[in-house]
Amino acid sequence: MSWETFKQNILRLAQNPESINDIEVVATAYATEYDEAIKRGKDNLFQAKFKMGNSGSLKDLFKLALEKGNSQTEPYDLVGEMGKGVLAYWNGAQLDPTSIQNPPQTPPATGAVQNIQIVSMTCTNAGTWQQPVLGEEPDIRNENEKDDDMPEVEIGETEEILGEVPIDDVAVEVESVEEVTVELYEPQEVEIGEVKEEPVEETEPLPEFDAILVGGLDYRDGDYNIDKQVELFKDGFGKNKKVKGFRYTTTSAEVILGMKNSPKVPVFLFSAGCVRAFELSNSEIVDKSKLFIIEPFTESANTKEIILNAIKNGVPILNVYSGPTEARGSAISGTSKTPSGISHWGSLTYVGKEKANLVTTERKPTTVSEGGDPPKIATNVGATAPPPPPGLASFGNGKIPKDKLGNIDSSYGSGILHVEAAKMYNKLIARAKKDGIKWRVSSTYRDYAGQLACYEKYGPSSAAKPGSSPHGWGLSLDFGEICGMQEAKAKQLGVGRAKPAPAKYTRENSKIYQWLAKNGPAFGWYNPYRLADGQGCDEAWHWEYWGFQTLTKQQREA
Ligand SMILES: [Zn+2]
Repeated sequence: MSWETFKQNILRLAQNPESINDIEVVATAYATEYDEAIKRGKDNLFQAKFKMGNSGSLKDLFKLALEKGNSQTEPYDLVGEMGKGVLAYWNGAQLDPTSIQNPPQTPPATGAVQNIQIVSMTCTNAGTWQQPVLGEEPDIRNENEKDDDMPEVEIGETEEILGEVPIDDVAVEVESVEEVTVELYEPQEVEIGEVKEEPVEETEPLPEFDAILVGGLDYRDGDYNIDKQVELFKDGFGKNKKVKGFRYTTTSAEVILGMKNSPKVPVFLFSAGCVRAFELSNSEIVDKSKLFIIEPFTESANTKEIILNAIKNGVPILNVYSGPTEARGSAISGTSKTPSGISHWGSLTYVGKEKANLVTTERKPTTVSEGGDPPKIATNVGATAPPPPPGLASFGNGKIPKDKLGNIDSSYGSGILHVEAAKMYNKLIARAKKDGIKWRVSSTYRDYAGQLACYEKYGPSSAAKPGSSPHGWGLSLDFGEICGMQEAKAKQLGVGRAKPAPAKYTRENSKIYQWLAKNGPAFGWYNPYRLADGQGCDEAWHWEYWGFQTLTKQQREA
């Protein structure tokens, strides 16, 4: 395979003024070339030969990234955005089952959802998209790999957390394409029996978070993941405070969106996260006097430049904390210092403690109570796309044999699911009936032919590519009213329907959602984490059966 061919073809495209003017053409060309570059290779994942990636989503997300770039006035991370397309391509990529001697069939231990890397013949974890350092060439491949063969693709080998791009319904996120919605729901009042009114907050609402942390690199040996980085920070800043952590890969636009309900709270950038300093200092939502830069990685001249520009922009120089070496920001003069004896990671705790008094608000404990508090997504179940049901991988997505499918209780909307998912869902309905709560299911199992027909009719902008949807495993269903609420809110906000903001609103306001969040897990049903994490694409309406991983045999057979 040849990245050289890829490069030549893209260059030819870029030099043609006519084609470069058309986003559709550019996105299609990039996606096609990427797909072909991979296919030309002799790539394999875990010794299984690569067969097919999710090219439809790849193209859609490339297109979305380009369109988003066109409408930006602030500096924009195009490479980072396009990376979502690459993740989507690999997420659910099909492998050739005949190419591997002993396919890994053993399901992971109960509850160990995060351990799932690859189950049988589908790539279930797209790994991470590593963005190049600003100002450097994208590191598509190693300089000294002169042969024409792609190195083995290492996907999902070390990373636990999936990139935020789900494969299901990903197409509906494309905003600018004329909307052809298959199922449209008017927002409707939800009938519920005896649910109490939510308590009315008399005082001004607290910001959603007390502080924001954009963390440092988290993928090398000895690095801490973003959750652990937040913990280290809170060791100094205050254990009870609500700190939202963003990975260093998060774009400034996404950080700003995440701060929508917490304007002007202190923002801490750590290490690699410091490259966001200048962009964030330009945002209205960020208070420059409360923007802190902790040990910027200044070995790259670019980072230093970015920090200096942020300072020019009004960020106080004493808000920058540097350590003893260049790699810890010492190349920037006049900054605050982290004391000697404090490690790079320790500087998180140190600065947290220094700035703890910036937030004095006492927060109530965030337990979920009977009445109204929005449900918290407490687990990371569904951080990756669901693996095929045990024993069914070889049939393929959308091609599950009839005897492995079962009807769902049609009083809440008819459809079929994998037998066990259907059985557990019917139990969930029985519980709902007791509680007097109702809904209508809008989509269940989608077979390959059906998905193909849908895909051909509506195109990649409004239908998931056949073979890539969890619906094709009979493990997913969509809730009509929840979808309706999120869609209506999205319209009101003027954003795509799968954006985090309308999803968050829906999670906090839909009684059906709240009931499901509370009762679903006992039956193995979850709104998957990757679609409820406040990043990328969020879908409150899409639920998945994870009972194979989260329930005991006894619970499943009860
Ligand atoms: Zn769905």
